[in-house]
Amino acid sequence: MTPEEFRRHGREVIDWIADYIEQVERYPVHSRARPGDLREALPETAPRAGEPFEDILADVDRLILPGITHWQSPSFFGFYPANTSPPSILGELLSAGLGVQGMLWTTSPACTELEQHVLDWLVEMLDLPKKFLSSGSGGGVIQDTASSAVLCALLAACYRHGGANGRSAGIDRRLVAYASDQAHSSIEKALLVAGMGTGRLRKIETDDGFAMRADCLAERMAADVADGLVPAFVCATVGTTSSAAVDPLESIGEICCRHGAWLHVDAAMAGTAALCPEFRGMHDGLEAADSYAFNPHKWMFVNFDCDCFFVADRGPLLEALSILPEYLRNQATQSGQVVDFRDWQVPLGRRFRALKLWFVIRSFGVEGLQEKIRGHVALAEEFAGWVEADESFELAVPRSLNLVCFRHGGGDDVNQQLLDALNDSGQVFLTHTRLENRLTLRFSIGQTGTRREHVERAWGLIRETARAQQSPQ
Ligand SMILES: *Cc1c(COP(=O)(O)O)cnc(C)c1O
Repeated sequence: MTPEEFRRHGREVIDWIADYIEQVERYPVHSRARPGDLREALPETAPRAGEPFEDILADVDRLILPGITHWQSPSFFGFYPANTSPPSILGELLSAGLGVQGMLWTTSPACTELEQHVLDWLVEMLDLPKKFLSSGSGGGVIQDTASSAVLCALLAACYRHGGANGRSAGIDRRLVAYASDQAHSSIEKALLVAGMGTGRLRKIETDDGFAMRADCLAERMAADVADGLVPAFVCATVGTTSSAAVDPLESIGEICCRHGAWLHVDAAMAGTAALCPEFRGMHDGLEAADSYAFNPHKWMFVNFDCDCFFVADRGPLLEALSILPEYLRNQATQSGQVVDFRDWQVPLGRRFRALKLWFVIRSFGVEGLQEKIRGHVALAEEFAGWVEADESFELAVPRSLNLVCFRHGGGDDVNQQLLDALNDSGQVFLTHTRLENRLTLRFSIGQTGTRREHVERAWGLIRETARAQQSPQ
């Protein structure tokens, strides 16, 4: 493809995406593809000769779109959002255009410095503790996902306990980790990947609101210490995946401090809400955290992948993860004046993700972002009010931020049928969880284009569908 052809096809692709954004509501939200549909439609082998771009793009419509679940539909209320926005898409495109690999400062100084700078902006934008700023002993870095962030935090915590010895001898068998029974599965996976084994994760009981019980954490830690074990790592969650519950950071922080345990705070989805001062109460006690992560790729209009990971002290992280082979030696690194982000993550190579984040923040402005977040929370509040006012339905827990967990009063089978029927309709997409072992529907509002009319229409559909199912055939 010549630059001239690229220019032409590039315009076609941008037009394609703009049309998609405008018309996304036309498609069934959840893909109706059956297993194997796409594989059967694709040629067995790769083409021998290059094909015209027109044919390739046409196949996106013909073959790929039917297998897409439209996360960007304003009627997508499943899981947590993975939203995007035009400035983010353009930032991603530029990142691909530059094709930079930012493993070291010297492999593209702008890649590292823009990242440092924008993450410092975020410390102020979310009113995070100042110790997460790059100007002190800590700093922020972009990881692919919250899963990678928690793994890095765990490794840093283990290093802090084991010291240099841990690097050669491996993780001390006595170290144990803690998270609530509502914490994300990525914590268990981090222990698996770190080779610690999931047996060393203590799942701490939660209260009626599904937040970690600090008294249970304290008891469990004391019991472990009595058994000769070492509490090394605690992951507290701000906005659990099931129900957006918020663990009590203040009391958890005190307990961590008493035992010298590393406190990581996972605010993957909810963190974005801290853009608005009125939602910052969820971060009370964050001063005690050693690390913090949230995903702009969930609720902050930055397309997947983009997780912002902050540490109060980069020392243990770098000690745990830095490796300097001969072929990466360079003057800038040697001078000690620059940061090499390959030492802050598991892989060596890294994408220029800060561009899309920078584009989004500059294009929306803090006020533009706040307005969107407030809008989503207000819609969730209104939806929760409708659920409460309908005698066939109930809230499973009080609404938290942009998430409403609710159910029909008819029991698990009724709720399962309702969920299946709603998703089969193609008009909305919802997912479920289990709270107190009861099937619970989750209504999560966070798509860039979601407006009141979409939420209202979804609620109408939920009520109608339930009513149709309940009436005798
Ligand atoms: C979504 C979620 C994660 C995992 O996010 P990834 O970035 O996909 O790894 C972790 N923790 C919480 C609380 C989440 O909601």
